[in-house]
Amino acid sequence: MLCKAPQKHAAKRVNLPLFIAGCLAAVALINPAVAETRQQENTQTSGEFDQCLVELGETAVAAGVSRQTADQVMAGVEKVERVIELDRGQPEFTTTFADYLNRRVNQDRIQSGRELLKTHRQLLNRVSRETGVPAPYLLAFWGLETNFGSYFGKMSVPSSLATLACDQRRSQFFTRQWVAALQIIDEGAIPADQMEGSWAGAMGHVQFMPTVFLEHAVDADGDGKRDLWNSLPDAMMSAGRFLESMGWDGEYRWGREVRLPEDFDYSLSDGRKLPLTEWRSMGITDAFGQALAPADIKASLIVPTGHRGPAFLVYQNFGVIMGWNRSEFYAIAVGHLADRIAGAGGLQTPPPEDLPALSRQQIMDLQQVLEDQGYDPGPVDGILGSGTRNAIREFQKSNNLVADGYPGTRVLEVAGIEA
Ligand code: CA
Repeated sequence: MLCKAPQKHAAKRVNLPLFIAGCLAAVALINPAVAETRQQENTQTSGEFDQCLVELGETAVAAGVSRQTADQVMAGVEKVERVIELDRGQPEFTTTFADYLNRRVNQDRIQSGRELLKTHRQLLNRVSRETGVPAPYLLAFWGLETNFGSYFGKMSVPSSLATLACDQRRSQFFTRQWVAALQIIDEGAIPADQMEGSWAGAMGHVQFMPTVFLEHAVDADGDGKRDLWNSLPDAMMSAGRFLESMGWDGEYRWGREVRLPEDFDYSLSDGRKLPLTEWRSMGITDAFGQALAPADIKASLIVPTGHRGPAFLVYQNFGVIMGWNRSEFYAIAVGHLADRIAGAGGLQTPPPEDLPALSRQQIMDLQQVLEDQGYDPGPVDGILGSGTRNAIREFQKSNNLVADGYPGTRVLEVAGIEA
C-alpha cells in the first residue's frame, strides 16, 4: 500500500458523471443512526461497534447484498484497533523524492520486471491489445503495488473496512468500500475469510479498492470468477481496463525527463498544460539534449525537487496514473519503472540526496507564514499540495528566489522557519 486510501483510486477524470452518481448513491446509503454512532470517536465500546455492524449489514442488504452473505460476513468481522491507529498515524517527516524513488525503482525490481516481461509476454500482449496499455506499465503498477505479487497484505478486508466505516473520520468513504466488498463476496469472487488486503482494504495483485474492483475487475481467464488474488490474467486485464476507463492514451508515453535551458522560468512548473511545441520553443529538450518530437499533445512541467533536480514533461497518461493514486511521486515512479523495464537507463539528473526531509510541522509553519503574509497555501495541514506549492512560488517571486515551488533552505530561511 503506497498511499492512504482517499488518494488511492481518486476520482476518475473521464467517467465523472458515473463517479458523482456513485457518490450520491453512497450518501443515500448512509443510515443516520450509523452516522450518529460514529460521532463518539475513540470512545466506542464493543456494544456500540456491534450495533454499528448490524447497521452496516442492513446497509449492505439495502444495496442488494444477500442476507445470507451479509450474515455470514458479519459473523467473522471484528473491530481491529490497529487499523484505527494506522488511519490516524501520520509520519512525522515527509519522504524525500530521492528516497521515494530509490526505494521503489531499484535494480532488483527492474530486473524482476524485465524477466516477468518475458515470462508473461503472451498475457501482457493480450492485455495491451485489448486495453491499449503497454506491458511495461502493467508491470510497473504490479511492481509498485505488491512487488509483483509477493505481498498482498494480510488484513481481513471485511474487518478492516467495518472498523473504518464505524469510525467517524472517514465513515462515508469506507461504508461505500464495505458495501462493495460484500457485493464482491456475494458474487462469489472470493470467500469472506479469504478476502485479505491492506489495512485500508486494497486487494490482490494490483491492490484495487473494493469500489474499483466492483466497477472495473474482469474475469480474463474464463473461470467465471473475477479473482484478483489468484489469477494473474484477471489482475492484469483488470488493471488494463481500469486505466483504459480513465482515458489511457495508447499512442503516447507517460511523459519524459527533460533538460531545461539556463535561466528557465520555473514558475511555469505550476501545473499549466501547454502544447508540447510551445515547451519545445522555450528551449526544452529531452534529457540528452535532443529535440522533442513535435507531437500535437499537451504537457505539464514537473520539478519534484525544485530547480535542483530532475525535470519532467508529463502527458495525458500521467494524469491517468494519478487517477490510480493521487501522488506525483507515485506517478513518476510508475512511469520511470515502466521505462526501465522497457530497457531505458536511469535519470540523467538523479534527484538530489542531500535535500532534508521536511517535518510536517515545518510545512505547517511555512503554510502559516504564507497565509499570514496574504498568500493562499490552502489548509494548514502539513501536506505539500499544489495549492501550497503555488503559494510558495508567489512567495519566491516576491523575494527574488527561483520560483520553483519547492520549499528549499532559502525559502525556509526567508520565511523565518528553523531548518
Ligand atoms: Ca477468473
